[in-house]
Amino acid sequence: MQQSLNDATGGEVWIQGFTDKGKPVNWRRCIYMEAAELIDSYPWKHWKNIDAQPDWDNIKIEVVDIWHFVLSEALRDYKINRKGDIDKLTNDIIKLPNYQQFTENVKPLDEDIYKQIAWVENFIKTLFTSEDVLTLVDAFFKIAYLMQINLDVLYRLYIGKNILNLFRQDHGYKEGKYIKQWNGVEDNVMMQDILEKQPDVTPEKLYALLEDAYEKVERA
Ligand code: MG
Ligand code: MG
Repeated sequence: MQQSLNDATGGEVWIQGFTDKGKPVNWRRCIYMEAAELIDSYPWKHWKNIDAQPDWDNIKIEVVDIWHFVLSEALRDYKINRKGDIDKLTNDIIKLPNYQQFTENVKPLDEDIYKQIAWVENFIKTLFTSEDVLTLVDAFFKIAYLMQINLDVLYRLYIGKNILNLFRQDHGYKEGKYIKQWNGVEDNVMMQDILEKQPDVTPEKLYALLEDAYEKVERA
């Protein structure tokens, strides 16, 4: 699904580092910017809304956004540097030290938000200091699990966000024509709403439901 989304978004040439429109593709930059969005879902500012609560729904979405880009970097690295395919990547991933725990039930989260932010910052440190993409994937499993996202949760939300990203691309996202606020509700929230009401929705059905809702968005 990630390969298809990237192919649909930037053309199959994305893997070489440039889209079919000639824009450079830098997955590591995408990852640290999404990690910043993740941190921004916590009330970390000491000068603004100091009593606000973490935005848990959005925290999950940002973790899934990060996974889109980690996976993209892994696909690129395997194709270009290791002459390996998706099967080889999969085989290497399931042998990673943090993978087993990632498949298990999550433990209750009792660390404070500053500790959680520090986990994300550690992940960013790994991103900048290790060139090995598997080290990055392993570090991702670790923070995702700590933040209550295991393989099952990631799988469900990943399909949701992947389809939403495809939907955005089909509706003018790249050209700046897409409307992200659907009558006052962000599209991410709409997508999560659908998943909550219909946990077993197929990708095709989800796409159709997004289409129905998007048609009802009032346009200025
Ligand atoms: Mg973003
Ligand atoms: Mg994001």
